[in-house]
Amino acid sequence: MFSEQVIACHHCDLLMAPPHVKEGECALCPRCKHKITRLHHSNINQLLSYAATGLIILFVTTQFNLMTFNLGGNVSQIDLWQSAINMYFDDYKVLAVLVLFFIFILPALILILIVAFILSIKTGIGCWAQTSILRLTFVMMPWAMVEVFLVGILVSLVKLVTIAQMDLGWSFWAYAVFCFCYAKVLTLVDRYQFWHWIDEAHR
Ligand SMILES: [Zn+2]
Repeated sequence: MFSEQVIACHHCDLLMAPPHVKEGECALCPRCKHKITRLHHSNINQLLSYAATGLIILFVTTQFNLMTFNLGGNVSQIDLWQSAINMYFDDYKVLAVLVLFFIFILPALILILIVAFILSIKTGIGCWAQTSILRLTFVMMPWAMVEVFLVGILVSLVKLVTIAQMDLGWSFWAYAVFCFCYAKVLTLVDRYQFWHWIDEAHR
């Protein structure tokens, strides 16, 4: 039906010719004004930096305490794993698995896949897997809920601070930095650019 290559807007499905943008320019959908792509040649390096930093910081979150409670002299500490493990042993087994999956495992997998994809684009190693990696990444991205967990901690902190002395641990601050890195990765992910990089790599 179409003799030339066309792309679809992810918001309204309008089919259009691939945009020709220059450095710093942004292409918008002519119908719904959804961003199609913003061309920055440094995107690939920034994306790699934020994704790799996010993975390192996510590992750091597992090495320290998340919170310390002091209730009438009884001090207890909780770390990231315990927040899920405690739920598991309190008969919220499914919830514990889901929490761990959506706040830790899934975001980690997404960042690993993005790092693997960029390294594959840069080095040319594993070209055959680039399309599969990208499709899997885009399927998983809507399901990560790192910011929901951070907001949940802050809400529970506001509730509990009236009955106990609460101190935030290094793990909380590391997770906050991880959320920032993850949010930067999401803003830098550009579907059009990703597929364009694959086209260039296979030429
Ligand atoms: Zn549109």
